[in-house]
Amino acid sequence: MEISRRNFFKISGAMAAASLADTSKGAQAATTPSISEEAFGCLVDTTLCVGCRKCEQACNTQHSLPKPVESFEEMTVLENERRMDETSYTVVNKYYPKNIGTLTWRTRPTFVKFQCMHCNDPSCVSACIVGALTKQPNGSVIYDAAKCIGCRYCMVACPFQVPAYEYDNALTPQVRKCTFCFETVKDGGLPACAQICPREVITFGKRSDLLKLARWKIKNNPGKYVDHIYGEHEVGGTSWLYLSSEPFETVGFPKLGTQAPPRLTEAIQHGLFQYFAAPVILYGVLGGIMGLTGYLKGAKEDLKSPTEEKGDTQ
Ligand code: SF4
Ligand code: SF4
Ligand code: SF4
Repeated sequence: MEISRRNFFKISGAMAAASLADTSKGAQAATTPSISEEAFGCLVDTTLCVGCRKCEQACNTQHSLPKPVESFEEMTVLENERRMDETSYTVVNKYYPKNIGTLTWRTRPTFVKFQCMHCNDPSCVSACIVGALTKQPNGSVIYDAAKCIGCRYCMVACPFQVPAYEYDNALTPQVRKCTFCFETVKDGGLPACAQICPREVITFGKRSDLLKLARWKIKNNPGKYVDHIYGEHEVGGTSWLYLSSEPFETVGFPKLGTQAPPRLTEAIQHGLFQYFAAPVILYGVLGGIMGLTGYLKGAKEDLKSPTEEKGDTQ
Protein backbone atom coordinates (compact mmCIF):
# COMPACT_ATOMS: atom_id res chain seq x y z
CA MET A 1 0.00 0.00 0.00
CA GLU A 2 1.35 3.40 -0.94
CA ILE A 3 1.42 5.76 2.02
CA SER A 4 -0.03 9.13 1.08
CA ARG A 5 1.15 12.31 2.81
CA ARG A 6 -2.12 12.44 4.75
CA ASN A 7 -1.73 8.82 5.90
CA PHE A 8 1.88 9.40 6.87
CA PHE A 9 0.80 12.25 9.16
CA LYS A 10 -1.86 9.99 10.67
CA ILE A 11 0.48 7.02 11.17
CA SER A 12 3.24 9.13 12.73
CA GLY A 13 0.76 10.75 15.10
CA ALA A 14 -0.82 7.42 15.97
CA MET A 15 2.57 5.85 16.77
CA ALA A 16 3.47 8.69 19.10
CA ALA A 17 0.05 8.50 20.77
CA ALA A 18 0.27 4.71 21.10
CA SER A 19 3.64 4.95 22.80
CA LEU A 20 2.20 7.37 25.35
CA ALA A 21 -0.86 5.17 25.88
CA ASP A 22 1.34 2.11 26.49
CA THR A 23 3.46 4.07 28.95
CA SER A 24 0.44 5.03 31.03
CA LYS A 25 -0.93 1.46 30.82
CA GLY A 26 2.40 0.16 32.11
CA ALA A 27 2.35 2.63 34.99
CA GLN A 28 -1.14 1.48 35.98
CA ALA A 29 -0.36 -2.21 35.68
CA ALA A 30 2.74 -1.99 37.86
CA THR A 31 0.62 -1.75 41.02
CA THR A 32 -0.39 -4.98 42.77
CA PRO A 33 -4.09 -5.79 42.37
CA SER A 34 -5.87 -5.99 45.72
CA ILE A 35 -7.44 -9.34 46.62
CA SER A 36 -10.89 -9.27 48.12
CA GLU A 37 -11.26 -10.44 51.71
CA GLU A 38 -14.18 -12.47 50.37
CA ALA A 39 -12.03 -14.48 47.94
CA PHE A 40 -12.03 -18.21 48.60
CA GLY A 41 -9.13 -20.56 49.02
CA CYS A 42 -8.18 -23.98 50.33
CA LEU A 43 -5.89 -24.82 53.21
CA VAL A 44 -4.12 -28.17 52.71
CA ASP A 45 -2.79 -29.69 55.93
CA THR A 46 -0.27 -32.17 54.55
CA THR A 47 0.25 -33.74 58.00
CA LEU A 48 -3.24 -35.30 57.68
CA CYS A 49 -2.91 -36.71 54.17
CA VAL A 50 -2.51 -40.49 53.80
CA GLY A 51 -2.05 -40.52 50.02
CA CYS A 52 -5.27 -42.39 49.23
CA ARG A 53 -5.68 -40.56 45.87
CA LYS A 54 -9.43 -40.11 46.37
CA CYS A 55 -9.00 -36.42 45.52
CA GLU A 56 -7.37 -37.33 42.20
CA GLN A 57 -10.25 -39.64 41.39
CA ALA A 58 -12.94 -37.12 42.36
CA CYS A 59 -11.30 -34.45 40.20
CA ASN A 60 -11.06 -36.87 37.28
CA THR A 61 -14.78 -37.68 37.54
CA GLN A 62 -15.90 -34.09 38.12
CA HIS A 63 -14.16 -32.89 34.98
CA SER A 64 -14.77 -35.98 32.82
CA LEU A 65 -11.04 -36.44 32.27
CA PRO A 66 -9.64 -39.54 30.55
CA LYS A 67 -9.22 -42.50 32.90
CA PRO A 68 -5.58 -43.17 33.82
CA VAL A 69 -3.80 -46.31 32.60
CA GLU A 70 -3.34 -47.44 36.21
CA SER A 71 -6.37 -47.25 38.44
CA PHE A 72 -6.74 -44.78 41.31
CA GLU A 73 -6.42 -47.73 43.72
CA GLU A 74 -2.87 -48.32 42.50
CA MET A 75 -0.56 -46.92 45.20
CA THR A 76 2.80 -47.74 43.59
CA VAL A 77 2.41 -44.63 41.39
CA LEU A 78 3.19 -42.62 44.52
CA GLU A 79 6.78 -43.87 44.47
CA ASN A 80 7.59 -41.57 41.56
CA GLU A 81 7.18 -37.80 41.72
CA ARG A 82 4.49 -36.81 39.23
CA ARG A 83 3.34 -33.57 37.66
CA MET A 84 -0.09 -32.38 36.66
CA ASP A 85 -0.86 -32.83 32.97
CA GLU A 86 -3.74 -32.41 30.52
CA THR A 87 -5.46 -35.51 31.92
CA SER A 88 -4.74 -34.90 35.65
CA TYR A 89 -5.54 -31.54 37.20
CA THR A 90 -4.20 -32.73 40.55
CA VAL A 91 -1.63 -35.28 41.69
CA VAL A 92 -0.55 -36.56 45.11
CA ASN A 93 3.16 -37.14 45.68
CA LYS A 94 4.96 -38.95 48.48
CA TYR A 95 8.10 -37.58 50.12
CA TYR A 96 10.20 -39.53 52.58
CA PRO A 97 11.68 -37.64 55.53
CA LYS A 98 15.25 -36.63 54.88
CA ASN A 99 16.57 -37.37 58.39
CA ILE A 100 14.91 -40.26 60.18
CA GLY A 101 15.90 -40.03 63.86
CA THR A 102 13.96 -41.32 66.83
CA LEU A 103 10.57 -42.84 66.05
CA THR A 104 8.09 -39.99 66.08
CA TRP A 105 5.08 -39.27 63.93
CA ARG A 106 7.50 -37.31 61.77
CA THR A 107 9.14 -40.52 60.55
CA ARG A 108 6.15 -41.14 58.30
CA PRO A 109 6.28 -39.92 54.70
CA THR A 110 4.62 -36.65 53.76
CA PHE A 111 1.92 -36.80 51.10
CA VAL A 112 1.30 -33.61 49.18
CA LYS A 113 -1.59 -32.86 46.85
CA PHE A 114 -0.62 -30.43 44.09
CA GLN A 115 -2.80 -28.49 41.62
CA CYS A 116 -2.98 -24.92 40.28
CA MET A 117 -2.32 -22.53 43.20
CA HIS A 118 -4.79 -19.92 41.90
CA CYS A 119 -2.30 -17.13 42.51
CA ASN A 120 -3.53 -13.76 43.76
CA ASP A 121 -1.67 -12.03 40.95
CA PRO A 122 -1.24 -14.83 38.41
CA SER A 123 1.66 -14.88 35.96
CA CYS A 124 -0.44 -16.95 33.55
CA VAL A 125 -3.10 -14.21 33.41
CA SER A 126 -0.48 -11.52 32.91
CA ALA A 127 1.25 -13.52 30.14
CA CYS A 128 -1.93 -14.27 28.19
CA ILE A 129 -2.15 -11.66 25.44
CA VAL A 130 -5.78 -12.39 24.55
CA GLY A 131 -7.32 -12.58 28.03
CA ALA A 132 -8.08 -16.32 27.88
CA LEU A 133 -7.07 -16.69 31.54
CA THR A 134 -8.72 -14.52 34.16
CA LYS A 135 -8.59 -14.15 37.92
CA GLN A 136 -12.13 -14.22 39.30
CA PRO A 137 -13.32 -12.30 42.37
CA ASN A 138 -13.98 -15.63 44.14
CA GLY A 139 -10.27 -16.46 43.90
CA SER A 140 -10.23 -18.94 41.02
CA VAL A 141 -8.14 -18.53 37.88
CA ILE A 142 -10.17 -19.80 34.94
CA TYR A 143 -9.56 -20.46 31.27
CA ASP A 144 -11.70 -19.59 28.25
CA ALA A 145 -10.87 -21.95 25.37
CA ALA A 146 -12.79 -19.75 22.91
CA LYS A 147 -10.27 -16.91 23.39
CA CYS A 148 -7.11 -19.04 23.50
CA ILE A 149 -4.80 -18.83 20.45
CA GLY A 150 -2.52 -21.65 21.64
CA CYS A 151 0.60 -19.50 22.14
CA ARG A 152 1.30 -21.30 25.47
CA TYR A 153 2.87 -18.20 27.07
CA CYS A 154 0.91 -19.13 30.21
CA MET A 155 2.84 -22.41 30.45
CA VAL A 156 6.17 -20.60 30.30
CA ALA A 157 5.08 -17.90 32.76
CA CYS A 158 3.67 -20.10 35.55
CA PRO A 159 6.18 -20.34 38.45
CA PHE A 160 4.62 -23.69 39.45
CA GLN A 161 4.66 -25.17 35.92
CA VAL A 162 0.96 -25.98 36.14
CA PRO A 163 -0.77 -25.36 32.78
CA ALA A 164 -0.65 -28.37 30.46
CA TYR A 165 -1.45 -28.45 26.74
CA GLU A 166 -3.35 -31.02 24.73
CA TYR A 167 -0.59 -31.76 22.22
CA ASP A 168 -2.41 -34.95 21.18
CA ASN A 169 -5.53 -33.01 20.21
CA ALA A 170 -4.75 -31.91 16.65
CA LEU A 171 -8.02 -30.07 15.97
CA THR A 172 -9.04 -28.22 19.13
CA PRO A 173 -6.14 -28.33 21.61
CA GLN A 174 -6.72 -26.59 24.92
CA VAL A 175 -4.69 -25.51 27.92
CA ARG A 176 -5.70 -27.65 30.89
CA LYS A 177 -5.38 -27.02 34.60
CA CYS A 178 -7.37 -27.12 37.86
CA THR A 179 -10.41 -24.87 37.61
CA PHE A 180 -10.96 -24.63 41.40
CA CYS A 181 -14.24 -26.30 40.42
CA PHE A 182 -15.38 -22.81 39.49
CA GLU A 183 -18.97 -23.65 38.52
CA THR A 184 -19.57 -25.68 41.70
CA VAL A 185 -18.01 -23.07 43.98
CA LYS A 186 -20.00 -20.32 42.23
CA ASP A 187 -23.18 -22.18 43.16
CA GLY A 188 -22.14 -22.48 46.81
CA GLY A 189 -20.62 -25.99 46.59
CA LEU A 190 -17.23 -27.38 47.52
CA PRO A 191 -14.42 -28.30 45.13
CA ALA A 192 -14.75 -32.03 44.39
CA CYS A 193 -11.36 -32.84 45.94
CA ALA A 194 -12.20 -31.05 49.20
CA GLN A 195 -15.63 -32.69 49.27
CA ILE A 196 -14.30 -36.26 48.92
CA CYS A 197 -11.21 -36.21 51.14
CA PRO A 198 -11.82 -38.75 53.94
CA ARG A 199 -9.15 -37.16 56.14
CA GLU A 200 -10.39 -33.57 55.81
CA VAL A 201 -6.98 -32.52 54.59
CA ILE A 202 -8.45 -29.73 52.46
CA THR A 203 -10.36 -26.95 54.20
CA PHE A 204 -12.31 -24.69 51.85
CA GLY A 205 -13.22 -21.18 52.95
CA LYS A 206 -12.40 -17.50 52.74
CA ARG A 207 -8.68 -17.08 52.29
CA SER A 208 -8.52 -14.60 55.17
CA ASP A 209 -10.18 -17.16 57.51
CA LEU A 210 -7.92 -19.94 56.29
CA LEU A 211 -4.86 -17.89 57.19
CA LYS A 212 -6.24 -17.41 60.72
CA LEU A 213 -6.90 -21.16 60.99
CA ALA A 214 -3.40 -22.00 59.76
CA ARG A 215 -1.80 -19.62 62.29
CA TRP A 216 -3.97 -21.11 65.04
CA LYS A 217 -2.87 -24.65 64.12
CA ILE A 218 0.82 -23.70 64.12
CA LYS A 219 0.51 -21.90 67.48
CA ASN A 220 -1.47 -24.64 69.22
CA ASN A 221 0.58 -27.62 67.98
CA PRO A 222 4.14 -26.76 68.96
CA GLY A 223 6.69 -28.76 67.00
CA LYS A 224 4.14 -30.25 64.62
CA TYR A 225 4.35 -27.76 61.79
CA VAL A 226 7.16 -25.70 60.33
CA ASP A 227 6.38 -22.07 61.08
CA HIS A 228 5.45 -21.20 57.51
CA ILE A 229 2.19 -21.09 55.59
CA TYR A 230 3.18 -21.80 52.01
CA GLY A 231 1.22 -19.51 49.69
CA GLU A 232 0.63 -16.76 52.23
CA HIS A 233 3.30 -14.61 50.61
CA GLU A 234 4.90 -16.67 47.82
CA VAL A 235 4.61 -14.89 44.44
CA GLY A 236 2.32 -12.30 46.02
CA GLY A 237 0.10 -14.91 47.71
CA THR A 238 -1.97 -17.81 46.42
CA SER A 239 -5.53 -19.01 47.01
CA TRP A 240 -4.28 -22.49 47.91
CA LEU A 241 -2.33 -22.53 51.17
CA TYR A 242 -0.30 -25.33 52.77
CA LEU A 243 0.87 -26.50 56.18
CA SER A 244 3.68 -29.02 56.52
CA SER A 245 5.77 -30.75 59.15
CA GLU A 246 8.77 -30.69 56.81
CA PRO A 247 10.54 -27.72 55.24
CA PHE A 248 8.55 -27.00 52.10
CA GLU A 249 11.52 -27.24 49.75
CA THR A 250 12.00 -30.90 50.85
CA VAL A 251 8.41 -31.87 49.97
CA GLY A 252 8.15 -30.64 46.40
CA PHE A 253 7.54 -26.90 46.76
CA PRO A 254 9.66 -24.42 44.79
CA LYS A 255 11.43 -21.76 46.83
CA LEU A 256 9.97 -18.54 45.48
CA GLY A 257 10.13 -14.87 46.41
CA THR A 258 7.25 -12.82 47.72
CA GLN A 259 6.93 -10.51 44.73
CA ALA A 260 4.36 -11.51 42.12
CA PRO A 261 6.26 -12.06 38.83
CA PRO A 262 3.79 -9.87 36.86
CA ARG A 263 4.72 -6.88 39.05
CA LEU A 264 8.35 -7.38 38.13
CA THR A 265 7.84 -7.94 34.40
CA GLU A 266 5.32 -5.13 34.08
CA ALA A 267 7.63 -2.77 35.98
CA ILE A 268 10.40 -3.65 33.48
CA GLN A 269 7.96 -3.18 30.59
CA HIS A 270 6.95 0.15 32.08
CA GLY A 271 10.59 1.22 32.28
CA LEU A 272 11.24 0.11 28.72
CA PHE A 273 8.19 1.96 27.43
CA GLN A 274 9.35 5.06 29.29
CA TYR A 275 12.71 4.96 27.47
CA PHE A 276 11.07 3.79 24.25
CA ALA A 277 8.57 6.66 24.34
CA ALA A 278 11.10 9.41 23.64
CA PRO A 279 12.48 7.91 20.38
CA VAL A 280 9.00 7.06 19.15
CA ILE A 281 7.67 10.53 19.89
CA LEU A 282 10.76 11.96 18.18
CA TYR A 283 10.10 9.62 15.24
CA GLY A 284 6.52 10.86 15.13
CA VAL A 285 7.63 14.51 15.16
CA LEU A 286 10.30 13.90 12.49
CA GLY A 287 7.73 12.06 10.42
CA GLY A 288 5.45 15.03 10.79
CA ILE A 289 8.18 17.45 9.71
CA MET A 290 9.07 15.29 6.69
CA GLY A 291 5.42 15.04 5.76
CA LEU A 292 4.91 18.80 6.18
CA THR A 293 8.00 19.59 4.08
CA GLY A 294 6.79 17.27 1.35
CA TYR A 295 3.32 18.74 1.51
CA LEU A 296 4.62 22.36 1.21
CA LYS A 297 6.84 21.33 -1.71
CA GLY A 298 3.86 19.75 -3.43
CA ALA A 299 1.69 22.79 -2.75
CA LYS A 300 4.40 25.09 -4.15
CA GLU A 301 4.54 23.00 -7.34
CA ASP A 302 0.74 23.14 -7.59
CA LEU A 303 0.87 26.96 -7.41
CA LYS A 304 3.35 27.31 -10.33
CA SER A 305 1.77 29.20 -13.22
CA PRO A 306 1.24 27.41 -16.57
CA THR A 307 3.72 29.91 -18.12
CA GLU A 308 6.38 28.96 -15.58
CA GLU A 309 5.71 25.30 -16.31
CA LYS A 310 5.90 25.92 -20.02
CA GLY A 311 9.17 27.84 -19.48
CA ASP A 312 10.48 25.02 -17.42
CA THR A 313 9.98 22.56 -20.25
CA GLN A 314 11.78 24.69 -22.81
S1 SF4 B 1 -8.20 -37.55 49.36
FE1 SF4 B 1 -7.30 -36.46 51.09
S2 SF4 B 1 -6.11 -37.99 52.21
FE2 SF4 B 1 -6.57 -38.85 50.22
S3 SF4 B 1 -4.76 -38.30 48.98
FE3 SF4 B 1 -6.27 -36.69 48.64
S4 SF4 B 1 -5.78 -35.11 50.13
FE4 SF4 B 1 -4.73 -37.01 50.79
S1 SF4 C 1 -0.24 -21.59 39.64
FE1 SF4 C 1 0.33 -21.08 37.54
S2 SF4 C 1 -1.49 -21.58 36.33
FE2 SF4 C 1 -2.15 -21.45 38.48
S3 SF4 C 1 -2.82 -19.30 38.75
FE3 SF4 C 1 -0.66 -19.40 39.37
S4 SF4 C 1 0.45 -18.80 37.49
FE4 SF4 C 1 -1.63 -19.41 36.85
S1 SF4 D 1 -10.43 -27.80 42.88
FE1 SF4 D 1 -11.60 -29.03 41.40
S2 SF4 D 1 -10.39 -28.90 39.53
FE2 SF4 D 1 -9.03 -28.30 41.21
S3 SF4 D 1 -7.99 -30.15 41.89
FE3 SF4 D 1 -9.83 -29.94 43.19
S4 SF4 D 1 -11.39 -31.13 42.10
FE4 SF4 D 1 -9.75 -30.78 40.64
